[in-house]
Formats: sequence, C-alpha cells, structure tokens
Amino acid sequence: MGQKILVVEDNELNLKLFCDLLRAHAYVAEPVRDGREALATARSFGPDLIVMDIQMPHITGLELIEQIKADDELRPIPIMAVTAYAAKGDEERIRDAGAEGYVSKPISVLRFVEAVRTLLEAAAARAEAEPPAPQAEGEAEAEGEGEAEAESPGPETEEAAAPEGEAAPEESPENAEPEEEPPTASP
Ligand code: MN
Repeated sequence: MGQKILVVEDNELNLKLFCDLLRAHAYVAEPVRDGREALATARSFGPDLIVMDIQMPHITGLELIEQIKADDELRPIPIMAVTAYAAKGDEERIRDAGAEGYVSKPISVLRFVEAVRTLLEAAAARAEAEPPAPQAEGEAEAEGEGEAEAESPGPETEEAAAPEGEAAPEESPENAEPEEEPPTASP
C-alpha cells in the first residue's frame, strides 16, 4: 500500500486537485475540509505526511501546525504547508511553527510532488537513524531537476493535471508556474 497523506484544505477544488495528484502518484490521500477535524482525523488515519493549507476558516493552518507539533503522538509526522501568500515572512513563520516543508500557491505540480517525496524520504531517514540526518537539506536542491522536466510534461503529469480543467477555481491552482515572461520591448 502506498504511503498515507492527510490533506487539510478548505477549498474544495484545491482539495480535489491535491488528492487526485497524490493518488496519481500512488499515495493514499485522505481529505479533510474542516480544519477543526484535522487532529482527530490525523490520529485515526495515521498519515505519513500532512499537507496543510494555511488560510482556512475557524482555525488556521498555522494554529494546526502548532497543535500538531505540541502533540507527542502527531509530532513526528512531517507537515508540508501550502499557502497562497507569497510574503517573505510567512515562510519563516510557518517553519517556526514546525512545518518541515512549504509550497506556495499556485502550486507547480512537479514541485508539489517532489516536495512530498523529499519530505517522506527525509522522515524515513530520520526514523532510521535517530540522530537527525542533515542530508535532507541537500535533497531539496534537486528541485532544479523538476523545473527542467516541466518543459516537457510526461503522460503522468498530464493525468495529474486533469482536474484543473474541470472548473475555474477562485484560487486558480495553476499547475504550471509562469515559465517565462515574454520580454516586453514596447512601453
Ligand atoms: Mn484555504
């Protein structure tokens, strides 16, 4: 069975996109729409990783990350935060709260999946060697590889990107990053 990933996201379209994407990569995805149910579901589902939206009603992802990291049972589960805000201080606040990873919306499909894989590998390495392995940092550098691949999406990417076409979501989870801005010569 694939590794289990809990997806906490209030936006229905993003929730579907993330779950479809993870399932297309053989992960078992469990959706949570209401952040207030996140901890209970995490306890019963026992995920290997949690994808956490930050902007949510009732309780923010930031608060949930703090609660998870204050919980002895849930603390070891790596958390990948997903946020629409690109402000510089945000990433630091999210990491200070205890999130192991961070991806900004609109997500890049390749980067999202790569970040999930990297976090799972780092967690597995941590579990194997009790003294935390510092190699997780180096693995994050492999990001450049994903960017190159983005230019020629394989069939796998196409399949994963499919849910995007079904509707135009307000948060517009564009799968591709702005590849390149055409040089604007004229004023
Ligand atoms: Mn949200």
